[in-house]
Order: sequence, then C-alpha cells, then structure tokens
Amino acid sequence: MKLQFFGGARTVTGSQHILTVEGKRILLECGLFQGRREETYRRNLNFDFDPESIDLLLLSHAHIDHCGNIPNLVKRGFRGRILATSATVDLCQIMLRDSAFLHQKDVEFVNKIRKRKDEPPIEPLYTIEDAEKAMQHFVAVEYGKTYTLFPRVRATFRDAGHILGSAGILLEMRKDGKPYRLGFTGDLGRKDVPILKDPNYLRDLDAVIMESTYGNRDHRLSDDVEEELATLVRKVVKDGGKIIIPAFAVGRTQLIVYLLHKLFDQNRIPDLPIFVDSPMAVNATEVFRRNPDCFDRATHRIFVRNNMDPFGFGRLRYVRSVDESKKLNGVSYPHIIISASGMAEGGRILHHLRNNIGNPKNLILLVGYAAEHTLARRLTEGRKLVKIFGEEHPLRARVIQMDDFSAHADRKGLLRFIDIQSREKLGHVFLVHGEEEQALPLKKSIQDLGFQSVHFPDRGQVYNL
Ligand SMILES: [Zn+2]
Repeated sequence: MKLQFFGGARTVTGSQHILTVEGKRILLECGLFQGRREETYRRNLNFDFDPESIDLLLLSHAHIDHCGNIPNLVKRGFRGRILATSATVDLCQIMLRDSAFLHQKDVEFVNKIRKRKDEPPIEPLYTIEDAEKAMQHFVAVEYGKTYTLFPRVRATFRDAGHILGSAGILLEMRKDGKPYRLGFTGDLGRKDVPILKDPNYLRDLDAVIMESTYGNRDHRLSDDVEEELATLVRKVVKDGGKIIIPAFAVGRTQLIVYLLHKLFDQNRIPDLPIFVDSPMAVNATEVFRRNPDCFDRATHRIFVRNNMDPFGFGRLRYVRSVDESKKLNGVSYPHIIISASGMAEGGRILHHLRNNIGNPKNLILLVGYAAEHTLARRLTEGRKLVKIFGEEHPLRARVIQMDDFSAHADRKGLLRFIDIQSREKLGHVFLVHGEEEQALPLKKSIQDLGFQSVHFPDRGQVYNL
C-alpha cells in the first residue's frame, strides 16, 4: 500500500494524490493548479504521472482546485470511473464547462500577445467538448453508503460540511490480513455555519490525508463577522462607493448572499442593490435550490418551511449576459457586485476590479483564501500598482480581507477532528492543501496532542503504508 502526493503538496491548489492498493491506482482529486500564469499552464498541461495508469478517481467536492483538471486527465487517456456525490456531479457539470470556457478565453488573450512576439499559438488546457466528455465518466454516490471499488477495497463518502455535496472519504482496505482504514478529509468544513450541515467526521482511522489551509488561524465568531460586514456596507453606502466581492461561484457566493439577505431583513444594512455577476454562480445557485436536503436545520426553519428562497430577495439581481455585466459599470449609485473567480484569477471579476480599483470610495472585499501569486493575494499586499489584464492600475480602493467567511475548518476545527482519533491507532497524518506557514504550526499542534507521525509531503514524495 503506497501513497504519493503530486498536487496540493505544500500549496492549496491542484490537489492530486495517488493511493496504490491491491495492484490498483486510485487518484484522489484532480485539481487545477493556480499561481503564476506561465507556470500554471505548464503544470496543468502535463501530469506528473501517466493518466492511463489510473484505475479510478475519487472526488471529494466540486471546487476547481480539486476537480478542475479532470477534463485534461480524460483527454490524456484516463479511462476509469469518477465517483462523487450527486450534488458534486451536478456542480461539476457547471464548474468544468465554465472552467473550459475560461481556458479558451485565456488562451485567445495569450495567443494575441504571442502573435505580436512571433511565437506559435498555444492550445487551451481543455475545451467545453473535453469537459462534456469527462462528465460521462462520473458516477454519483450517496452519503453513508459503502461501495466496493475493487476486491478488498471499499469507500464511504461522509458529509464534510464544506460546500454542497462535499465529502470526506473513508477507504477500507486490508493490510497484513487486518482491516486498515484510511481517511481523506477533502476540504473539511466548519460547525455552525449557515446553510450547510455540520461535518460528519471520519473516525477510527489508521491513517489520514488531511487538509491544512487554516492550520494556524482561528476564525472569529459569526456574530462579530456579521457586524463587521454590516459596518463596512454602511460606510461604503455613506461614502457613495461600490463594494466588489470576488467569490468562489460555488459556496461562498451563496453564503454572502444569505448573510446580506439576513442583514437587510434585520435593517442592519441600507437598501442597496446587490448584483451576482457570474453565470456559473447563477447555475450553481440552482443546484443549491434543487438540493434542500443538504441544508441544515436553521436554514430549513427560516427559509424552506416558510417557502422563502434563501438565495433570492428583492434587492438581489442575478446577472447572466455579458451585456448586462458591462452595464454595471455605468451604475453610479452605491451597490454590491459579487463575481467569480474567488482568487480573482479569471472571469468577470477582473473587469469589475479594473473599473473600480482606482476610486478610494470603493471597497474590495476578499472573502476567501488568497493563494500565493494570485491577484487576490497581490491586492492584500498593500501595493500601489496592481496588474490586471497585463496593465498596471493604481490601487486606491480600500481592500479588506475577511477570511472568517471561509468554508474551511480553522485551527481549532482541524484539531477537533484529530483529537477524536485514537492515539494508538492513527499511525500517520499527512498534511496536504496548505502553505508552510499554516501547515507547519498545525503539524506541531497535532504532535502536541500525542500523534507522533505527522508528515508534510513534498510534491512527488512517496510513503509506504
Ligand atoms: Zn474546497
């Protein structure tokens, strides 16, 4: 039994881990790497392993850093099935098509520059057709049901409470004739956040592959966060500015809409229009509406039972067409624009940032993790000039980062998960999906709890279990 880590190793993007067991190779996640443009393209184009050699893909959830390179995997010879919960399959349908569209657009832009330099054009990482072909490999699974993957290898998906459809995956195998339980957390969610159910932790594990995004940070309590959001909104309205929120189309957008809805209903923010400008977010919101079973009890009590829609209210407009999106630039009264992508690496958010970054009355509100070398991270670094679409723009708008909206467990949440495991039984903890300054302190905290064998694998590193 062997584990090897390729992506999401010492970084938060591009998750790809391979488990070799009973002569089969199981890929956990096939995420898209995000970072500097050129490195990104090269790293995503070529896999560190042969896609044809993979027998099966298990997918924890539909965020692009976990599923975004699946179409390329299929294009390069992967023939197996892809197991994911049915909400994840629905969301991937939207995410992967959208991702393909963005790759095609991006390559058009890059090729224009290459042409000027007399360089040959490059191909998009994958196309919409490739994304559609990849969807044929998906097989939907149910939470809590145990599936036999291969003789002596079984998998069970449990709700991770991170985004709609998200799962932690339990793999039950045999080692030296005895049962061996390997857990994969995917992205671990938080307790008591709006909309989603609390995470259903994997237990009694012999080894775990665990995310570490916020391994060294504690999120603030939600009441404080709501009040800060309300204060920020009130100030911008008073100044006559705009609020631009880059947000993951899946999960974060719906959470922000839900919170704004609540603040507005409680008269804590003034009456102002809110635009969700992302066709993908619009479609993803449909998937949320179709899956009320995944909602937690409070959401049921407040919205579903009263026949209200938690994602739609009077002041909210969903923007679908490019024309409508462009018209937002002409709106001069205070308003909020929520648009993808979350790390501001592509999508319509780039236009809104370019158009609004120069006005000190405006607020750019970052509500998720900003990975190294992404535009979102550059915005937080206090630079005077920021490059968007290849041109420098003076950064005069206020930039606030509120990680507290994160769908990830914080340090305490990650440690709570580890603390319920058996000190005698849990032989290995592999920390993935985290940058050094988060994962290394977490490693120490886990060791302090009494678990000695904690690893923070490098890209390509192999472990024999
Ligand atoms: Zn995620």
